[in-house]
Amino acid sequence: NKTILLNQRPQGKPTLADFKTITEEVPAPQEGEVLLKTVYVSVDPYLRGRMNDARSYVPPFQLNEPIRSGIIAEVVKSKHADYQKGDFVSGTLAWKEYQTSTGKGLQPVDPSVAPLSSYLGVLGLTGLTAYLGLMEIGKPTKGETLVVSGAAGAVGSVVGQIGKLLGCRVVGITGSDEKVALLTDTFSFDQAINYKTAADLKQAIQTACPDGVDCYFDNVGGEISDAVMAQLNKYARIAVCGAISLYNETKVPMGPRLQPIILTRSATMRGFIVSDFAEKFPPASKQLAAWLGEGKLTATETIVEGFDRIPRAFLDLFEGKNTGKMIVKV
Ligand code: NDP
Repeated sequence: NKTILLNQRPQGKPTLADFKTITEEVPAPQEGEVLLKTVYVSVDPYLRGRMNDARSYVPPFQLNEPIRSGIIAEVVKSKHADYQKGDFVSGTLAWKEYQTSTGKGLQPVDPSVAPLSSYLGVLGLTGLTAYLGLMEIGKPTKGETLVVSGAAGAVGSVVGQIGKLLGCRVVGITGSDEKVALLTDTFSFDQAINYKTAADLKQAIQTACPDGVDCYFDNVGGEISDAVMAQLNKYARIAVCGAISLYNETKVPMGPRLQPIILTRSATMRGFIVSDFAEKFPPASKQLAAWLGEGKLTATETIVEGFDRIPRAFLDLFEGKNTGKMIVKV
């Protein structure tokens, strides 16, 4: 039974040496417990923050303790009245091949309704983050221009598709020409920009957004966001969802001072953690499932196979190796 632990706290960009794999006995479930076999593991950019010994909205991982993330698992033994062998569940679980659980925090998931991996993506926290961040903070309306950074990623690709369903002009910013083509050809974004090759990103955004930017869904922060912010319209809304370009910085980088832009455009900038909107999860999940069922939303995933490849898959998020939700199939 393999377990992946936090071996050391990363300095800057994380590396494989920050993780350690140990092998233990498969535990036996006690009365009131289930034995879970890990099936799919979600690797997420926010786990980087939990690897630091710093105060945040979730406590840091401890050294020599297992990393935990969203996992889909199969019940392989049950001594719990609510679960039977063969049931599938999702929850925040340890990076272990097998583990026991009392059922606390587990949600049943049904493979006959949707593929199991989608409960980590569009039907899980990813989809909820995209939908609720956009609807509650971005509030885009028909005909407005919505810019999305990290646009070909798990959250970003859903945000842009919802923007199109709402009738917006949608412009995505992403890190490769293949991703640009996917956004415009498959997801019907109006335009997409490769931030790695654009000669002048500010100019490229201005050209792609001739009517300015009404709504910005920010997954990356940093210089990309500085370039978008320069194009904001009056009453623009900025949903600050993530800042992956800054997660590995060891010093706080200096950018333009944004206050004059926020002030003169009467703009609203608001950060959020998806759990802020927990009471809206049921209707949001229902809407996402309906769009998925009607074929209006496409779930994109990058699936890597093998328990041992979990750390590598996590590191690859920072290299842009994924399109859509990065998931490890065990
Ligand atoms: P993604 O699937 O978007 O994966 C990360 C992507 O970020 C990569 O594929 C890469 O794409 C891009 N990226 C990596 N490094 C950089 C960089 N230096 N500059 C710009 N882009 C970079 O991950 P998620 O969809 O899971 O998460 C997206 C963001 O949303 C993250 O910042 C995450 O922390 C945040 N988040 C926030 C939540 C909340 O509750 N607020 C919940 C879930 C996620 P590319 O090829 O385009 O560079």
